[in-house]
Amino acid sequence: MMAAIAAAKNGANVFILEKNERVGKKILSTGNGKCNLTNLDFSLDKYHSTDNRLLGDYFDRFNEKSTIAFFGECGLMLKNKSGYIYPSCEQASVVLDVLRHMLDVLGIKEYTEAGVKEVKKIDDRFVIKTVDREYRADRLIIACGSPAGVSNKDKNMPGISGYDIAKSFGHKIIDVLPSLVQVECEENFFNSIAGIRADCCITLFDENKAIARENGELQLTNYGISGIPVFQLSGLISRELNSGKKLYAVLDFMEELDEEAFAEFIKGRIHSFRGETVENYFLGMVNKKLCSLIIKLGGLKPSDIVSDELAEPVFMASLMMKQFVVTIKSTKGIDSAQVCTGGVSLCEVDRKLMSLKEDGLYFCGEILDVDGKCGGYNLQWAWTSGYLAGTYASLE
Ligand SMILES: Cc1cc2nc3c(=O)[nH]c(=O)nc-3n(C[C@H](O)[C@H](O)[C@H](O)COP(=O)(O)OP(=O)(O)OC[C@H]3O[C@@H](n4cnc5c(N)ncnc54)[C@H](O)[C@@H]3O)c2cc1C
Repeated sequence: MMAAIAAAKNGANVFILEKNERVGKKILSTGNGKCNLTNLDFSLDKYHSTDNRLLGDYFDRFNEKSTIAFFGECGLMLKNKSGYIYPSCEQASVVLDVLRHMLDVLGIKEYTEAGVKEVKKIDDRFVIKTVDREYRADRLIIACGSPAGVSNKDKNMPGISGYDIAKSFGHKIIDVLPSLVQVECEENFFNSIAGIRADCCITLFDENKAIARENGELQLTNYGISGIPVFQLSGLISRELNSGKKLYAVLDFMEELDEEAFAEFIKGRIHSFRGETVENYFLGMVNKKLCSLIIKLGGLKPSDIVSDELAEPVFMASLMMKQFVVTIKSTKGIDSAQVCTGGVSLCEVDRKLMSLKEDGLYFCGEILDVDGKCGGYNLQWAWTSGYLAGTYASLE
């Protein structure tokens, strides 16, 4: 829609082919139905892509301020929640309505239930076959998104994937994997701590090397870990597991104390709880269910008495509050994910988002190998790339 609007504003005659019964359905589920459409805290490290230098070049030309200005011009009032930008009415459906209104104002035709089945270039024009019709166009923008979060019903609508269209023009597709998704762990104790939500610092390790770190509210579930910090790490986890790496994560529930201060604190606490039960020693430090598990994993019993003899095992068990190790098994699948990492490589498009394989063919949005963190960054990429692809496609 953004690409269509940008192209039509430049005077192009534009139409949209959409395989669903209506355009823009994914927008409706964004931001828990409120649509977090961009974020004022922009930096390139919020993104993963094939080429972050080229990515920066796109954002230099259309960024979060441009998004705010664009929606302002469309008449959408916005709300700033600590940098996270939402429509003031907090209704994702209104964002879609406003975009559709713009399509209407600009005379852009929407063909729905028009899943593309084949695209060919014949005599310098694109011939696009849908289920029941054939369309011709001088320029073609592929904005087919990713399979993340698509319902089974929509998945079964006729039409091939955007990746297959790209492949038919000689593009290579970087492995499409789930991102912004929950993570399953190997350990069999998760049932006992499911439901806990706790502020936590998560460090991801590949062998003995820390490769990423995130803070925020962790959610422990019966299969593993979830919550924003886990989502933020999940794209990297998908890619690393896909390349055969073995990963584990260290959960720090005591991030406000550095290691030295924590060790001092623990020693002092062991001293002051001498003669009391291990259960009472742990009580009040972290979530109760986690205390019980740590006592068990530490080879202790709740009724054990803190004593000189037990000082060492109690100390070692206590360290788990700062270094709780979990082994990563997999991420949840693409159906559970908000976005996908992978897609059409940025190495195969130019500054105008035109294919380096086929003149007049453009890409925008999630079909490209660009994925952002949670917080409005993926829609920002959709707006940025849509605006640029639409603008350049109409200028060429
Ligand atoms: C639950 C959920 C919550 C999210 N929340 C946020 C959020 O708050 N903020 C944020 O920034 N991002 C969020 N995202 C991510 C964001 O929605 C996507 O990154 C964004 O929608 C991608 O835009 P797109 O135009 O590239 O693809 P899409 O929005 O997926 O649109 C692609 C369109 O192409 C159509 N299509 C596919 N194949 C064909 C074909 N062969 N023929 C015709 N049409 C076809 C599809 O039906 C679809 O309508 C969320 C995603 C999910 C699933």
